[in-house]
Amino acid sequence: MKTRPTRTSAKLPGLTDRTPSRDDPDRRAPGRSRRSAKKKRFDIDEVMRRLRLTVKPYTPAAMFQLYDEGFKSVFEILAGCIISIRTLDEVTLTTSRRLFEAARTPAEVAALSPGKIDQLIATCTFHGPKSRTIHAIAAEAATKFGGKVPCDFDVLTSFSGVGPKCANLVLGVACQQPHGVAVDIHVHRVTNRWGYVSALTPEKTMEELEEKLPRKYWIEINKLLVPFGKFICTGRAPKCSTCPVLAYCRQVGVAEHR
Ligand code: SF4
Repeated sequence: MKTRPTRTSAKLPGLTDRTPSRDDPDRRAPGRSRRSAKKKRFDIDEVMRRLRLTVKPYTPAAMFQLYDEGFKSVFEILAGCIISIRTLDEVTLTTSRRLFEAARTPAEVAALSPGKIDQLIATCTFHGPKSRTIHAIAAEAATKFGGKVPCDFDVLTSFSGVGPKCANLVLGVACQQPHGVAVDIHVHRVTNRWGYVSALTPEKTMEELEEKLPRKYWIEINKLLVPFGKFICTGRAPKCSTCPVLAYCRQVGVAEHR
């Protein structure tokens, strides 16, 4: 008796013989794009290896750069993170350095008036509210936590103006703790274009990444994808034709590219 081919065993033009894994974007969205048929199975280890080489010539994401420059305390990275909200990395770096030239520890910053902090960080966006936030955190750290901000997610998010993204970034950079994935607009855009996650908001992307991204990459992914998203996988017309991970990327939602 002849066996009728099942839908899964029937060969369709352009499909490969391999069986997609559960995590494969092609399985989650079959026939999403003709481009997908030529792609390799997504290999996060290989993608991360290629990204490391690719972003070497670029300035690291702002918090990693501050850390590399010697601003390694939890308080310094936290203050830098607050300054960075809706502010370009280049401005974040110069603004943070100016603040730290005047004061670096919670006790030193608490001794400044919010008005003085406002003057020092005047180049970043929302410097008025940010100066009050930084002053309040410095005062609390100086009086309540023995002069140091602890490596503790609950303490960090208890400060007004500090959300999970900032707390995860601070824990990752200053404490070397992969507590969660810090998802900014670059991490959100790139991982969705890869087809590695499928989420409409950075918050959902964070949840999906924390489910499937190996924990050993939770800190590094932000470090790599910020410069990668700024210079290669740009918001408009990403540089796909020379991209080192083109073979793995499903280019989800990419209508035009260079
Ligand atoms: S540049 Fe293009 S190929 Fe590279 S990650 Fe972005 S969308 Fe994918």
